[in-house]
Amino acid sequence: MTRAAMKIGPVILFGPPGAGKGTQAKRIADKFGIPQISTGDLLRENVEKGTELGQNARQIMQRGELVPDRMVCDMVAERLKDGDCERGFILDGFPRTVTQAVWLDNYLVENTVFDNANGTGAAFVLRFVVEYNALLQRLTGRRTCPTCGRIYNVHTQPPRVAEVCDLDGSRLVTRKDDQEEVIAERLKAYEAQTLPLVEYYHKRNRLLEINGDQPVDVVTAEALRAIEHGNSL
Ligand code: AMP
Repeated sequence: MTRAAMKIGPVILFGPPGAGKGTQAKRIADKFGIPQISTGDLLRENVEKGTELGQNARQIMQRGELVPDRMVCDMVAERLKDGDCERGFILDGFPRTVTQAVWLDNYLVENTVFDNANGTGAAFVLRFVVEYNALLQRLTGRRTCPTCGRIYNVHTQPPRVAEVCDLDGSRLVTRKDDQEEVIAERLKAYEAQTLPLVEYYHKRNRLLEINGDQPVDVVTAEALRAIEHGNSL
């Protein structure tokens, strides 16, 4: 069976800000033909459009804190109803608290029709482990294309022409929350609220770790293999 025809089920990409979740999610999504669901991207879209959710989330995001669980879970529930999630989906940046993880497990039990190899339709978690200084370098050097969403890094993965997207020529942007003071807050939120999820998923035997300090292509290859095999854990 080709990758694009496989039933993948829900896959969670887990790791601190800057671990490479967004970059890897796009590559994995392309290979398997399933959507990337980034709660950060969805929230930023809401902020840009000025929706009620966006207005409530904007300042919280600017401070580098987590948006309340209820708001994020409702937003994810809405997105998961779309037909493109039927064969599976990649969650990038969600869940970020134990409350969100419990909500997701319940949601999948109640709503899912996934018949992946573990038979439960439960989400499978890939954790990217990255050294702290590398994280800081990735976050401060990150640039994003506002048109196609491609992610660059001025230190490690620069575009061919400085500050311009290789794919569509758009001027690259720096995320507001990639400034140093906000980065520190985001990493604190990760340690305090998100890291406990490692134990949550480890206990349930659904966690696989990848060394995220390796070159991007090596990480992708390991992630693809893990999803193909891990799916039958
Ligand atoms: P990200 O693009 O994943 O780094 O997310 C950017 C910001 O959006 C975070 O710093 C949070 O303020 C908010 N956010 C994204 N995902 C979540 C989530 N699952 N729970 C709470 N807040 C989130």
